[in-house]
Order: sequence, then structure tokens, then C-alpha cells
Amino acid sequence: MTNSNQDSKLLLTKEEMKQYGYKIIDHIVAHFETQDSKKPVALATREEMDSLLAEGIPEHPQPPYEVLDFVMNHIIPNSNIVTHPKSFSFVPGPSNYISVMADTIATGFNIFSGGWASSPAAAELEIVTMNWLLEMFGFPKKAGGGIFTSGGSMANLTALVTARRLKCGSDFSKATIYLSDQAHSSNIKAIKVIGFKKEQIRIIPTDLEFKIAINKLKNSIARDRLEGLQPFCIIASAGTTNTGTVDPLEEIASICETENLWFHIDGAYGGAAILSEKGKKLLKGIEKADSLTVDPHKWFFQPYEMGCLLVKNHNWLSHTFTEKPEYLRDIEGNESEINFYDHGIQLTRRFRALKLYMSLKTFGLESFKKAITYAIDSTEKTEEHLRQSKLWEITSPATLAIINFRYNPIDQHLSETQLDQINQSISKKIIDSRDALLVTTLLNDQVVIRMCLINPRTTFEDITTTLKQCEGYAEEILLELIPQ
Ligand SMILES: *Cc1c(COP(=O)(O)O)cnc(C)c1O
Repeated sequence: MTNSNQDSKLLLTKEEMKQYGYKIIDHIVAHFETQDSKKPVALATREEMDSLLAEGIPEHPQPPYEVLDFVMNHIIPNSNIVTHPKSFSFVPGPSNYISVMADTIATGFNIFSGGWASSPAAAELEIVTMNWLLEMFGFPKKAGGGIFTSGGSMANLTALVTARRLKCGSDFSKATIYLSDQAHSSNIKAIKVIGFKKEQIRIIPTDLEFKIAINKLKNSIARDRLEGLQPFCIIASAGTTNTGTVDPLEEIASICETENLWFHIDGAYGGAAILSEKGKKLLKGIEKADSLTVDPHKWFFQPYEMGCLLVKNHNWLSHTFTEKPEYLRDIEGNESEINFYDHGIQLTRRFRALKLYMSLKTFGLESFKKAITYAIDSTEKTEEHLRQSKLWEITSPATLAIINFRYNPIDQHLSETQLDQINQSISKKIIDSRDALLVTTLLNDQVVIRMCLINPRTTFEDITTTLKQCEGYAEEILLELIPQ
């Protein structure tokens, strides 16, 4: 690519585009083929990254393959591989190749997925895929609706803006909102973004299973009413990020009904479990939410970024977000031709529906069901495996696809401080080895190791070899801690 006369139009020739594109596809395919044998963890300091990457604005053209090679050699390897079978931490992003290609199409054709008139088929596809999701979660298809967002955080924010308008109108100075101490931090962020003060947020403690304590929730609502405040919304978790725990959705639904509160469910991590029989039972009551966040870029195997908000009545969104600037005058459609910029915060939106559409059609819903069921089953199998060991203690049993445990050998009688130290060090050592992405969380002030097993390519052997490696580290740490 040397035709600098084309550079001012930012163009490449047909042959150059093909070669460049094929080369990138080769890199991506090679990554899909070989990632299991790579190390999932990237470790680098700001200093190291600065010395590798910091540079001035590139004023002049550079050879394209040099730029590409630099990216492939230095940028891509310095990121965690969240699709790796030993990527156990946070909520991994298992992804799939069809959706990667779908995103490439969406970007290649640069489809504007904001208004009906700009891309009727893209808007229609968002309606079609949204209807699939509405059906999965037992939401009404005719009245219901939703919007694809960048992720769960934006979906939660979109939900709360809607809830605030419908329940509080313009004065929300006395409004109070309820969520558990295990609810995802994005909810607190969203509550702050919509202008609530700290004094309006009620963090309700959880019970021994990390579910929101219903009695305490009721007490809190009653007390707020007695003080002349205006309880307006409960946020329930359908799969907390820490432990996978599902709040008692049916009970919360009935509180919301009697108290006239908005019922939002954050199912960003766990919602997808609706596609398995076990998950369906655990998520009973999810269909009673006014609004529900799910996150296709987690357990629906989509590449980043794709979140989703579902609502019982699509008018709630359009009545909350419709603004009519004069330059959009000519492209207003009728009621049924949805402008998704009227259903959320973004005007210019990428064509997110395409990847869910193409991957669901290509693999079929049954493949997604099997993948999700497999994850739940292998988490339970991991629990059984750990229970048979004298070295490990379960701190939170397999729930959906998350399990928490800690190293606590039965014959050692270690103190809580020692246990915290050991488990922290196990995680540090495994991260330093870069062989598995396995970090700790805090449960009841204990340092515990957390595994999230949503990747359908994670084998039971991936899990047991990682545990074995941890046990080896634990022995070393014990020797240092308590010289025998
Ligand atoms: C991941 C997660 C979020 C945030 O979603 P993003 O896609 O990261 O913005 C919200 N809630 C829960 C329960 C999550 O697991």
C-alpha cells in the first residue's frame, strides 16, 4: 500500500483491502485456533506500557503492515484472553466466531442503527431479536419492548431513568431506592448518575445465602413511608456477580405490587440461565419485573459490547427518551416504525442486533441451551469435586455458574488471618504464573477464590488442573507461613 495519492481520501485499492482484510482474518482465526494453549493473563505496568506504546501524533503515513504487525505483536498480547477456557474470573466473555464476523459486517457497512428511516431492516432486526428475548423471559411480546445497549451498566441506567420518570415524575427529592449489599456496583453508579443523593439509597443486608433479606427490606420500606419519604424502586439481582445468587424474585414482585414500586431486575450476569431447566426454576418470577437487564456479551456468548434492557411496555421507553430536535423532523416514522434513539440515551448506535441474530440462527437456540446447561452442570461437578477434598472448603456453593471456595485443610486449624493470607497468595501466584485468570473476592469478610464457569469450552480438566496447581502453591505458602 504505497499509493499515497489515495491517502487523502482514506482509501485503499480493491486488492489492498482484500489482502489487508484476509491477513486480519488469518490473525483472528489463528487466535481462535490456538488461544487455549496461550496464557490468559496479561501483566504489565503503566511504565512498561508507556515505554512500549506512548508516542506522538503520527503526522505521516506509515507502512500498513508495519502498523498491523505492531498491533498484533505488542498490543493484542498485552490483554487478558477473556475467551480462554481458564479465564475463570469476573464474568468472562466467551464470544463466538459468527458474532465476531457479524460485528465485522455491522462495522464494514457502518450501519446507523438509530432511526427507522436510516436502516429499516436494522431497526426491524432489533425488534425481531428483542421479541426472541421477550419470549425467553416471559415478557409480553406485543406490549413489551427493549433496547440493546453497550452493556449491563447502560441497561441499568436506562431502566432507572425510566423508573424514576414513571414513578416520581419530576420531583424525586423524597424518593428512595432499595438494593442488596450484593447488587452490582453499576446500579449504585446509575443511581448517582440520575441525581440521587446517598441518603436516598437503601443498601439492604443479605442473608446467609447472600439473598436480599426480605424482612429487612420490608422494614426499610415501612420506615421510609413513616418518615414521609417515597419508596419508588427495588433492584433485585438475578445472579449476583459475587456468588451467582438470585434474590427471591416472587417475594420482591409481591412487595412491589402492594407497595406500588418499580421492580427492576439486574440479570446482566445470570439472566441467560433462563435457557436451562435448572436456571428457569431459580429465575422463577423474573417475568414479573417491570424492567430487566440482561447482558448478551456475557452468557449469551456475544463479543463486546452488547447489553440489553427489556421492559413490560415499550411506551415507557419512548415516553421517557423521545426528544424532537428539528433536524430529525423529516425522519419521524409512525408508532410501529421504531426509532431506537427514542428508546434510550444514544442517538448514533451501532448495529448490535446483527450478531445475536446471526449467531442464534447459525447455532440454533438449542446450542445455546446446551452451552448454558453445560456450564451449570460443570459448576456443580466442581462443587462435588471440592467437597471430596480435605484441602478445600466451599464458601458459596455452585449457583448458576459461579462457585466460591477457599483453601482450608481440615487438619491444619489455621486462623482466619492465615486463611486470608494463604488464599490471597494462591491467587497471586496463579496470576503471576499467568496460567489461569483466577482472583479472589470477599464474602463475609473472608478472602475466597471465585470461579465463574460460563465458557462452554472450559473442560473439567481445565478446572481440576488449575485446582491442583493452586494446591501446589498452597503447600509452598504454608511452608513459608508455618515452617514445619
Ligand atoms: C457485569 C454486570 C453488570 C455490568 O454490566 P457491563 O456490561 O459490564 O456494563 C451489571 N450487573 C451485573 C449483575 C453484572 O454481572
